Amino acid sequence: MKKFAIPQDLTKALHFIGGSRLNLLSPHKFMVMEPRNGSHLTECCSAERSQVEEAVLISRKAQKFWAAMPWLERGHILRRAAELIRSHVNEISLWEVRDNGKPIREAKADVLSCAETFEYFSGVDLSGQHIPYSDQDSRFAYTRREPLGVVGAVGAWNYPIQTATWKIAPAIACGNAIVYKPSPLAPISAVILAQLLQCAGVPNGIVNIVQGEAITGTAICESTGINKVSFTGSSSTGKKIVETCAKIHVKPVTLELGGKSSCIIFEDADMEMAVNGAMMANFFSQGQVCSNASKILVHSSIFDEFTKKVAESTAQLVIGDPLNEATHVGASISNEHMKKVKGYIDGAIKQGAKLIYGGEPVSVEGLESGFYLSPCILSGVTRGMTVYHEEIFGSVMLIIPFESDEEALKMANDTEFGLAAGVFTNDLSRAHSFAAMLEAGTVYINTFNDVSPLVPFGGFKQSGFGRENGRSAIEAYSQIKSVFVNTSKRLENAFQVISAGEL
Ligand code: NAD
Repeated sequence: MKKFAIPQDLTKALHFIGGSRLNLLSPHKFMVMEPRNGSHLTECCSAERSQVEEAVLISRKAQKFWAAMPWLERGHILRRAAELIRSHVNEISLWEVRDNGKPIREAKADVLSCAETFEYFSGVDLSGQHIPYSDQDSRFAYTRREPLGVVGAVGAWNYPIQTATWKIAPAIACGNAIVYKPSPLAPISAVILAQLLQCAGVPNGIVNIVQGEAITGTAICESTGINKVSFTGSSSTGKKIVETCAKIHVKPVTLELGGKSSCIIFEDADMEMAVNGAMMANFFSQGQVCSNASKILVHSSIFDEFTKKVAESTAQLVIGDPLNEATHVGASISNEHMKKVKGYIDGAIKQGAKLIYGGEPVSVEGLESGFYLSPCILSGVTRGMTVYHEEIFGSVMLIIPFESDEEALKMANDTEFGLAAGVFTNDLSRAHSFAAMLEAGTVYINTFNDVSPLVPFGGFKQSGFGRENGRSAIEAYSQIKSVFVNTSKRLENAFQVISAGEL
């Protein structure tokens, strides 16, 4: 295996096209901040349409060779990538923290999960099916699973390397090339990943990174050389993606969008597990998690005890430099985003919610310009309040009481979104009947926010369509061709003339 070293020059030439780091120039420049200290990390130009088209052209040429490579050989390369990720977890995580602001312990878990994802997709089964549709052995059909060609992908900033991996790994495992656009707020780890994949043996032109804001994403969606688009981001941008993808020529789209999830804590739940679960459902990655259950619905008989315990546990969380291993709560992605989350908290209090804990900007010694906000717990939240309906995308837990199972279910499903939901109970039959009734792509029973490359992930309702991970991802990044076969050496004339007597 070629030796891989984390590139030293990660604040310039952030486009990666045809196997080379490029410093593309365009009039559309964007700045990248380092959330932990609020400093200027780098700046980059958004790739324009012609530059995206150049990347697509290079991908199209390379894809033919990659698709023709035996699966097992592609699988070897993906496994080598997993090995390289594992052996560089610390250095990759460091950049993920600088780029995104999340605590290093979470960044390491994210990076390791990327190794698992490449491993899982290294063993994909791309077989078709034999279909004996006729009563004659000489007539049958079979299906071939074929790549789509070039995949265009657009990602969000909250799980930068994981989002890139969830798209790149299945796309290339299926024999496609990919043109990936990271979020302009966290553009760096995708470049590291692309260079690492090159080192693992992925041919030049198969994985391309184009940087940019909406203008670059639009160019990807409009490109006639791109055969599929996979998008992770907000529901409002998701709508534009679908529209743009259909404007010039239609292409299939996977949409991983926002959420407004609930987690129901029943009266028979184990209290310690429920408290841990509610925190896992709200406080990873400064609350910037699409599947977060900001609505924690708690049976009224245990409401006071739960509220007290979850507030005590939240008060234990260490807020500080995300590069410190002891830190639980790092920095929000940007000052603007932190203010938006704070605005939701202040707005809820103005509308009558009660502040139980946190929700204040925090000054971290030596990092005074970083974007730190303490995790927040609110109670007294009602259906009329904005926070009850909108995705906050920050560490804001809303604790809402309920009296009956019906009321809990109604509140959990009372949203246009459907990404995730959870229940904490010791009643097996209640757990599984709720799993069936909750309108969400993922349901957690006595846990929350677990992900695995083996398990499909995606949304119901306005949280999107299509799935990442698991067998579903293979279906999303390949297409089925049906082949009808006749080996009998004869074919009846379907148009033979029938005499009047035979009619
Ligand atoms: P966003 O919608 O603002 O941006 C997402 C990406 O789309 C970025 O790369 C952005 O540059 C690009 N973009 C913006 N406008 C575009 C356009 N008109 N055409 C093409 N591309 C365009 O979202 P964000 O703020 O980066 O991410 C936060 C959102 O993502 C939240 O709503 C969160 O729930 C969601 N999210 C969903 C999942 C999931 O798996 N369902 C995972 C992570 C984040």
